[in-house]
Order: sequence, then C-alpha cells, then structure tokens
Amino acid sequence: MAVYNPKSPKAEEFINDAEIRETLAYAEENKNNKELIAQILEKARPKKTETGCVCAGLTHREASVLLACEDPQVTEKIYEIAEEIKLAFYGNRIVIFAPLYLSNYCVNGCLYCPYHMKNRTIPRRKLTQEEVRAEVTALQDMGHKRLAIEAGEDPVNNPIEYILECIQTIYSVHHKNGDIRRVNVNIAATTVENYRKLKEAGIGTYILFQETYHKESYLKLHPTGPKHDYDYHTEAMDRAMEGGIDDVGLGVLFGLELYKYEFAGLIMHAEHLEAVHGVGPHTISVPRLKRADDIDPDDFDNGIDDETFAKITACIRLAVPYTGMIISTRETEEVRAKLLNLGISQVSGGSRTSVGGYTEEERPHDTEQFDVSDQRSLDEVVRWLMENGHIPSFCTACYREGRTGDRFMSLCKNGQILNCCHPNALMTLSEYLEDYASEETKQKGYDVVEAELERIPKDKVRNIARQNIRDIRNSNRRDFRF
Ligand code: SAM
Repeated sequence: MAVYNPKSPKAEEFINDAEIRETLAYAEENKNNKELIAQILEKARPKKTETGCVCAGLTHREASVLLACEDPQVTEKIYEIAEEIKLAFYGNRIVIFAPLYLSNYCVNGCLYCPYHMKNRTIPRRKLTQEEVRAEVTALQDMGHKRLAIEAGEDPVNNPIEYILECIQTIYSVHHKNGDIRRVNVNIAATTVENYRKLKEAGIGTYILFQETYHKESYLKLHPTGPKHDYDYHTEAMDRAMEGGIDDVGLGVLFGLELYKYEFAGLIMHAEHLEAVHGVGPHTISVPRLKRADDIDPDDFDNGIDDETFAKITACIRLAVPYTGMIISTRETEEVRAKLLNLGISQVSGGSRTSVGGYTEEERPHDTEQFDVSDQRSLDEVVRWLMENGHIPSFCTACYREGRTGDRFMSLCKNGQILNCCHPNALMTLSEYLEDYASEETKQKGYDVVEAELERIPKDKVRNIARQNIRDIRNSNRRDFRF
C-alpha cells in the first residue's frame, strides 16, 4: 500500500488516500475541540514583522479541522482572518482577466464536460489564426490585458504546435493602445518537453484543474481518453515545473466529489509543490460544476451550497496565504461579491466560454463550455469592484519583470505590495479608464485613483505614480511600472 510522502514524485504518495481519510477522521474528532481550534486560528493570523508581514499558513490537517467545525462563531473568525490575509498580502487590488476558448475539439470522455468526445450535439470549432486575431482585438477593445487560453485535448486538432502558434498570434496583436501582456494557459496535462515549449513561448501561469483528487471517482468521471490516467494528470505540475514553468495554478471542480476530501487533497498538492520545488502554487481556482450543453449538474450528487463554498474559499485562504485565488463568471454577482472579501485576488470579467464568443453577437453561443452566471460587461465589473472598495488591476509587471515563483512570494512577504503593486494597479487602471471605460466608470475610477494614491507609503513612489497618471490622462503615456 502507498505511504504518504509529500516529497515523493508519485501521485499516490503525495496525494495519499489513506492520509486524506485519516485527516478527515482527525478533523471530525476535533471539530469541537475549542482549544485546538483557537490555536489553529491564532497560527493562521498574519503577524507583523520589522520588514512586512508573515503568515504561517496551515497544514492540510489543521485547515481540515477548521472546515469541519460547524460553530458559526468560528466560521465568522475564519472569514475575518481570510479578509485580513487578503488585505495584508494583496491589498484591495483585484486582478482582471478573461478566458479565450481556442478549440472545443476533445478526445476525452469527461462526464461533466460538454466537450466530451461522445457529444454529437455540440458544434466543434477551432479558431484559425485570423479568428484568434479577431477575438484578441475584441478583447483588447474591452480593455483586457491578461488572458487564460482554454482548449480541449486533441492531438490532431489542437496539438501543441497549434497552441504555440495561437500564443504567438495573441502576443502579436497591438490594437489601438491595447496589447495582451500575459497569456495563462489551461490545457490538458502534457510532457516536460511541451511545458518547456510553453515556457519559451512566454506563458504566464500554467493552469490545470485536478477535477477530483479522489482516484476512484476520477477514473469513473474520466472513463476514456488520455485524461483517464490519474497519475499522469496529478503529476502534471511537477512536469510543468521541471519544464521551467514556475507559476502553476491548481483547482478542483467542486461538485464532483465530497468537498472535504477535495479540500484536503488540494492543500496536500500545494504542500507537495512547496516541499519539492520550494514554491507553492501561484494560484488556486475554485470552479463549481455548472449546467452545460448535455450536462445537468443535478446528475451529480456532491453539489455544495453557497455558504459551504464561501467557507471552503476562506479556509484555502488561511491554509495558503501567499497564493492568488481565482473566481470565474461561473458564479453570480452575489457569490462573487461575498468571496471577494474572503481571499479572492483575481476575477474574470465580460467572459465568453464559447469558441469565437467575443466576435459573435448572440449569446448563449452554441459552443459554450458552461453557463456563465455573471453576464455583466467588463466595464460593469470594473465599476462594481470599485463601488465595493476593490481596485481593479490590469497589471502584469511581475511577470514582465521576472518576478515569478518565489520572487513574487518574497515581494508579498516583504510588505512591498503598497509600494509596488498598488501604484502599478492605479496606473494600469488609469490606462483602462482613459482607453475603454464608460463615462460613469471613468468618473468613479478617477475619484478612486486619487484617494488610493494617498495610501502609497513612500513619497517618492507616490509622486512618480501621480505624475504617470497625469501623463496617462494627458495622452503622454510611457510604459512605466514599479
Ligand atoms: N482540456 C483541459 C483539461 O483537460 O484540463 C482544460 C480546459 S477546460 C476548457 C477547463 C476546465 O473547465 C476543466 O478543467 C473543468 O474543470 C471545467 N469544466 C468542464 N466542464 C464544466 C462544467 N460543466 N461546469 C463548470 N466547469 C467545467
């Protein structure tokens, strides 16, 4: 029988089923252990240091105890600490991105995804390079600077060469003042050699959702196709890191399996990356299963309600304080509003989940991967974020300055966010306001920018940022970032 070992390269040892079951039993036994819970909460709280702020994070066992605890007062404390951590390490900035669907050809048999091979009702589509350019132009016209490209797995229709060509095309489009400055990639698990090619193509984060950490369920949910191989899928992030990609993004598709099991597996995966590669995941996404072409979420038994979903998000925030957290338009405005105060640091806006969706008028589009709950435009999302006290950020400076992997984490820990990321967010937001925003958003935006400039601690930094923003407003733009 496999033995738990977070440093092992083998999936069954670092995501060890026996360890997860023991963790769940331990969490159940201790869910009313007030003394232990108080200790765990205290450990999770951010602590001020001379140079900034640090946060210990939690082990999968500790975090699982918090998740199991049903005391509403403890839940309130978890939410309070989650917000404290978010503000300590990320400030009130929220990074904005959009997905770009390249192709829905797929040879897998995933039971929850409408792109599965046996689905004969969904039209199959793959963007040509001309269509990629048109989609990217439309995304730039909305104001996007950061994309996550998405594709099904199909070695014939979407080989790695196709993905690489699309990335090159995306980076080559400079429409008016627009450009895409960071392309994150969400494609199926692949080889070290292909990850190296993606790295060389200049990708940001490589994102791959585990879907479920429960091996038996995984094998049933992925009955056919290359994705059926649980170990190959689970070990993908190690291969990505071996190929030189140091920003990887984890995620579970909540609704497929019991959420407590998934939660423990997810935190163990983060611990494994930290133990082996010295840096944890750059992001964690929290997608929930949605209705789609031939998919009915009611056919799955493990759906979670909004409250449980909020608690999972907050507990992840406490366990892995330096990791960015992503919420997509799968969720409604109300759910997104709540999660934004519990640790989320990135949101998508104005998203289309269909191939060619940004250049086609009608919605829902017939190649949509799943129903989009938040259908507001990017302009509406940007204004809404500001009305709720957040700063929408279009910044991609860390990636462009090589502050990836542990270099980004040290920026966080040294408390330099307010002197670096905050002015960058305000400058990129000003570019957005000038180039793309409606009058209403622009007015609101500049009030917010003025007020937020005052929060930059260093005089010199504040003055440079203020001058740059003046220049942006006077059409005298320089591509300057801290
Ligand atoms: N093909 C790639 C792979 O195999 O990992 C990923 C691309 S897929 C477009 C992105 C993600 O969408 C999947 O990893 C899955 O978690 C999610 N997804 C699939 N069907 C979904 C559904 N019905 N509702 C919500 N999310 C879904």
